[in-house]
Amino acid sequence: MMTSKSSESIKVVFRVRPLNEKEKQNSCKIATIAHEREGVIEIRNLLSDGDCESSKTFAFDAVFSEESSQRHIYDVCAAPVVQSVLEGYNGTIFAYGQTGAGKTHTMEGVNEPESLKGIIPNAFEHIFDHIALNGSKDKYLVRASYFEIYKEEIRDLLSQSPQRLELKETESGAVYVKDLTDFVVKSVSDIDHVLQQGKKYRSVGATLMNAGSSRSHAIFSIVIECCSTDGQDEHIRVGKLNLVDLAGSERQSKTGATGERLKEATKINLSLSALGNVISALVDGKSNHIPYRDSKLTRILQDSLGGNTKTVMCANAGPADYNYDESLSTLRYANRAK
Ligand code: ADP
Ligand code: MG
Repeated sequence: MMTSKSSESIKVVFRVRPLNEKEKQNSCKIATIAHEREGVIEIRNLLSDGDCESSKTFAFDAVFSEESSQRHIYDVCAAPVVQSVLEGYNGTIFAYGQTGAGKTHTMEGVNEPESLKGIIPNAFEHIFDHIALNGSKDKYLVRASYFEIYKEEIRDLLSQSPQRLELKETESGAVYVKDLTDFVVKSVSDIDHVLQQGKKYRSVGATLMNAGSSRSHAIFSIVIECCSTDGQDEHIRVGKLNLVDLAGSERQSKTGATGERLKEATKINLSLSALGNVISALVDGKSNHIPYRDSKLTRILQDSLGGNTKTVMCANAGPADYNYDESLSTLRYANRAK
């Protein structure tokens, strides 16, 4: 019997970044290795002399080493999601991992040189290239919004108002963020402008790990409406794409958090574990209860996770042996989501 399983629409991929300059200078040893052809990540528990004491492997839908270009990652992970959003389905792409693992590099990258553009700017081009090709027969309307969830509170990144936004539910049960700003965008430069404006407002908090580390989940949402006419008939399709740069997944013990910072870390971990639970329930396909209601993040994304939507979780890790514990915990999280 053929069954349609939601796991077919959820992909979990894993990316290992290169050693950075500082790690090279310190002759850091490599503990986490992406074997691209085999589709597995190997993590080695190294002894102080560099010998490998034991190693574990984890398989994913795709794995990416430092050899993988930003474009390749876009083509494999993101392009199918964006394509289905253009066809009227919802989709979500997440970047998960500890601070410094490469989440923002994967999602945003840098605009110069062109080859370092991440998923978000590549998606912008994909969308407007598609519209340029099809815009003479179909009419498109593209809107963008950008917000963050920080300590289970929602903040508009496109408005200077310090007001926290509320989640509301329509009678049919659809969840939305009340009063969230959205901009109609007509070109790549329009939508990139929206992204840049929002980035300025994004809240960052210093931790002992990395002074610039982001403690919030940032969600860039693009709604694409397409109106096509077929003889007398008009069809309207609406798709929504969520591009999510999650807060760092590191455990609070390692960052030496206390007081406010500890409370914050607990809330961040809450929505990351709620997300893990939702994805694993969807992949499992057997549970009839999907715990969307357990966090703001999963409530907001409810209409874009599961069902006929496409989801990609891109887990990121650093390769060095001092990242062993965090990389292993990221591997376990991603492995469970699969
Ligand atoms: P995160 O957002 O997870 O905290 P970043 O994306 O900011 O991590 O990455 C930390 C640093 O490592 C940045 O300077 C980034 O440019 C660099 N980096 C991350 N991934 C890669 C990669 N695949 N190739 C080259 N540099 C990378
Ligand atoms: Mg980041």
